[in-house]
Amino acid sequence: MKVAAHSQVIEEYLLALYKINRSNEKAKAVTLSTRLQTSPPTVHATISRMQRDGLVIVDKSKVMTLTKKGKKVAEDIAYRHNLSEYFLCNTLGIPWYEVHQHAHLLEHAMTPVVVKKLAEFLGEPEFCPHGTPMPGKELPENTIALMESKPGTTVEIAMIGEALEDSIDLMKILHDHYIMPGNIHKVVEKTNVLRSISLESEKGSTSLPFHVAEKIFVFEVR
Ligand SMILES: [Zn+2]
Ligand SMILES: [Zn+2]
Repeated sequence: MKVAAHSQVIEEYLLALYKINRSNEKAKAVTLSTRLQTSPPTVHATISRMQRDGLVIVDKSKVMTLTKKGKKVAEDIAYRHNLSEYFLCNTLGIPWYEVHQHAHLLEHAMTPVVVKKLAEFLGEPEFCPHGTPMPGKELPENTIALMESKPGTTVEIAMIGEALEDSIDLMKILHDHYIMPGNIHKVVEKTNVLRSISLESEKGSTSLPFHVAEKIFVFEVR
């Protein structure tokens, strides 16, 4: 039985590129080297291998994009990742702010049969516990970065950006401050001097630095 067509390293590169593309950033070797904490020479070697295998295209200005084939494999990994997170959180009861790290390992060990059966078992979820849509699904159209929301508006948290998931400490802080998908907050004010945005919810008030608010997505509820 064919289990995985690509090595775990290639899968991680594909997933990283997929996430960078999805957040409309330009993917260069240096971006990957930071994200994956790998040395630039290693990144170059792996990228050449991926180019050879028709998974990625590198243009003249060294920006990398996934080919159709690369995107398909990446979506498959992203799906396995988000499905694992959903399972770990909703079935096994691991806190939502911790599941990312576990899913990161599980996602590489699932055969297509396991993926299919697990998705059926879970009732074909459309979002991971952080609100990231499964590949092919979208966030509501009026979703914006929390950073863009206007003081005085009431917003519902839609998604905690994947870039934030890597830090359990930060995720735990968000959890403690009631910043999770589905929760409602009022945007109180944005302070340029402190570079922070303050929020108020039924659980009290909190403030977040701009660089975090840029990676949290919300939509206005009233
Ligand atoms: Zn994750
Ligand atoms: Zn997630």
